[in-house]
Amino acid sequence: MGIINCIRCGNVFTTERDTNVCPDCIAKENEDLKKVKEYLRDFPLANAMEVAERTGVSIIQIFKFVKMGSLILTAPVEAFKCRLCGKDVKKGTLCQDCIDKVLELKESAKRKEKEKLKKEFEKKIKKKFKKI
Ligand SMILES: [Zn+2]
Ligand SMILES: [Zn+2]
Repeated sequence: MGIINCIRCGNVFTTERDTNVCPDCIAKENEDLKKVKEYLRDFPLANAMEVAERTGVSIIQIFKFVKMGSLILTAPVEAFKCRLCGKDVKKGTLCQDCIDKVLELKESAKRKEKEKLKKEFEKKIKKKFKKI
């Protein structure tokens, strides 16, 4: 059993499983997935941007679902179109621009997370020094 800092909300929790997301966030993720799936059942060819807008689930989260295999975006049969911006693509479900955009979003989310951890660490250090 370990004590883990949730990578999503920062809550500290204990778990026996190999996870770094707390049960609250997992429950929220499942709910988001349900929302996205329900929307796609009604609008099977909706692009991810539209799904994010309608369901309130972030694009990053939707792509995480896709990457995990929880969600499958079906490409339109008649032509390959980017599921994000609707631009024609030769293959796959995303154009290169959108792939870059998604990667960039992910990177900036990671960066923010790192900065947060650094700040918290500095705060702790400062507190220690005050005591001395
Ligand atoms: Zn959490
Ligand atoms: Zn695109």
